Amino acid sequence: MELAQRLDRMSESQTLKMSRLGRELRAKGLDIIDLSIGEPDFVTPEHIREAAKQAIDQGYTHYTPVAGYPDLRKAIADKLKRDNGLEYAPEQIVTSTGAKHSLINVIMSVVDPSDEVIIPTPYWVTYSEQVKFVQGKVVTIRGTRENKYKITPAQLEAAITPKTKLFMFSSPCNPSGSVYDQEELAALAEVFRRHPRIVILSDEIYEYINYLGTHYSIAQFDDLKDRVVIVNGLSKGYAMTGWRLGYIAGPLALAKAIEKIQGQFTSGTCSITQRAAIHALNADLKPTHEMVAEFRKRRDYIVSEIRKIPGIEVQEPDGAFYIFPDISAYFGKKVGDLTIENADDLCMYLLEKGQVSTVTGAAFGEPNCIRISYAASMEKLGEGVNRLRDALAALK
Ligand code: PLP
Repeated sequence: MELAQRLDRMSESQTLKMSRLGRELRAKGLDIIDLSIGEPDFVTPEHIREAAKQAIDQGYTHYTPVAGYPDLRKAIADKLKRDNGLEYAPEQIVTSTGAKHSLINVIMSVVDPSDEVIIPTPYWVTYSEQVKFVQGKVVTIRGTRENKYKITPAQLEAAITPKTKLFMFSSPCNPSGSVYDQEELAALAEVFRRHPRIVILSDEIYEYINYLGTHYSIAQFDDLKDRVVIVNGLSKGYAMTGWRLGYIAGPLALAKAIEKIQGQFTSGTCSITQRAAIHALNADLKPTHEMVAEFRKRRDYIVSEIRKIPGIEVQEPDGAFYIFPDISAYFGKKVGDLTIENADDLCMYLLEKGQVSTVTGAAFGEPNCIRISYAASMEKLGEGVNRLRDALAALK
């Protein structure tokens, strides 16, 4: 079959690919430790599961409004006020089938072919692929380890051209775990003030998985708010990845545009998920805080263990559930006939010989690193670290 050319503009998700390869090896009987995962290993809290069961019993089985149930949009507006001090009318909010879907909705609404989209590296794998899919031009700004993989205002200014249409970033960041503080956002905001055409996409899906305690959004600056779009969702903070609930909060015109697009693609997201989400958003965040406390313990453990391995440089992440070590010291090393040329080779070697699954930094725009997820039990992390250490020690 002759498939459309647009497929060539986009590559397979590398994170999903590693999960798939891990599954395939497991199916062959190999015992693989999966540290490539991008989701909490916790099940959704019971009270949210109960709310979903009730929704089924109450007959919430029909099509939903395209942008989401009005009381869900209101619950999100209330959350933005409560947690972020931000005023949004429910009409400025559109819910979608996961934050990934919210992202492509924004990109389709804002980016025309050959528009430039600035993405700091390392970025979440999907950003660049979605931009390429709509024929936008990806312009990266390379974050440095010295600056905790966050960009400076000077770097941002230098990347902007008359063709820049969109800037997109995540804080807390997947994969680096970096979190922009108030001053750093203010400094970037100063640059955006000089460039009124640029839309700013702020991906805040890891908002609650933050070890610093306070989350800041770039939407806080009133004079920028009419061109900032927040993307968030319930996947990470409520351990609800399979339920598929993401949302945007942004200018009314953008919300309307997204509603129009979504009306022709997916319609409103799952009715049962939406009812459960209303319950989750209005409920106490205790289960989230407990989960984050556990992630913090694991972070402390994995950072200290990984730092003991020669040749690996790793910063302590302030959010999300990944470490993003620089492993470039292993490039050029050999075992048997195999030479590790790059991070892709190292990940495949770790998977096939070390039986531990990680993701190449190249997929995130940073070829010197790999991403290791600590959304796995302490027991698995311990075994994963042992395997990593042994596999790396075999490289000479
Ligand atoms: N944004 C970032 C930075 C992510 O890491 C992810 C998931 O890994 C998403 C968005 C998508 O989340 P969802 O599962 O709600 O589509």
